[in-house]
Amino acid sequence: MSTPVSFEFFPPNTPVGVEKLKTVVQELGALKPQYFSVTYGAGGSTRDKTLSAVMDIASAGFNAAPHLSCVGSTRENIAEILATYRERGISRVVALRGDLPSGTATAGEFRYASELVSFIRETQGKDWHIEVAAYPEVHPQQRYAARDLQHFADKMKAGADGAITQFFFNPDAYFHFVDEARRLGVTQPIVPGIMPFHNYGRIAQFAQRDGIEIPRWVQMKMEGFMDDAASIRAFGLDVVTRLCERLIAGGAPGVHFYTLNQSALTLALCERLGLGNKG
Ligand code: FAD
Repeated sequence: MSTPVSFEFFPPNTPVGVEKLKTVVQELGALKPQYFSVTYGAGGSTRDKTLSAVMDIASAGFNAAPHLSCVGSTRENIAEILATYRERGISRVVALRGDLPSGTATAGEFRYASELVSFIRETQGKDWHIEVAAYPEVHPQQRYAARDLQHFADKMKAGADGAITQFFFNPDAYFHFVDEARRLGVTQPIVPGIMPFHNYGRIAQFAQRDGIEIPRWVQMKMEGFMDDAASIRAFGLDVVTRLCERLIAGGAPGVHFYTLNQSALTLALCERLGLGNKG
């Protein structure tokens, strides 16, 4: 059986983006993903757009999972959002702390994602399938790797069903993280999050912001291509294909693609890797 795949989107901002995403959902839906997830803006800024994108995916006949971040929210507010989704038949969620824009007061009732997971379990029992975030190269706001790992293990023990990692380019970071988590008693699947090189400059910025290492040889080659989009695409595909091959051979329980609402590179990767159930 092929390794399961899932695909992540952000909620589109314009009517054109909404229509484009519907096409992308159909194209990637042909691979029969486990689910599509839709991100949630800091402090609830995309609440309605996330709901709307999730419902578009669900009405096209696919499993959809909203991301939900808790920082800056009240329990009442989170309960209301969960109820809205439940009424519409959604039962999978990616539970996060999130980040408030700097300078914003943190007036909410949740400090960490583990508190959101506990809240969902306490108020809704097993009704939800809950994914959480994992950081093979350590969360950027955490100085000590061992503490970050322990907080991750606590979050899983609070009742998560699985985790999706931040993107990374070093498979050893993932394998080491999974081994350490297992040592702390985490038994749930930890699915690698994969970022295709949609746009090298943009990915390099994300990596810089989030403390993710792009190997020097990859950086040097990419920068050397200058504006040669065809070479960037071909090389990026090779690098990410090899990364996924190693992850799958090493036992990754699935692959979660950060699509940035585009299908072409993700489709090409899945094709090369023989991922997705087309039957
Ligand atoms: P947590 O697990 O709460 O961890 C946050 C930090 O707090 C870590 O440094 C951790 O070590 C520390 N910590 C945890 N528990 C404790 C404790 N008890 N005591 C002290 N320190 C503690 N952001 C969005 O805004 N919207 C999205 O849709 C979104 N989707 C994402 C999807 C994935 C797969 C990933 C990997 C990230 C996503 N993010 C999203 C980014 C995420 O919100 C940020 O990385 C945020 O800074 C941390 O969220 P978290 O859920 O990992 O937090």
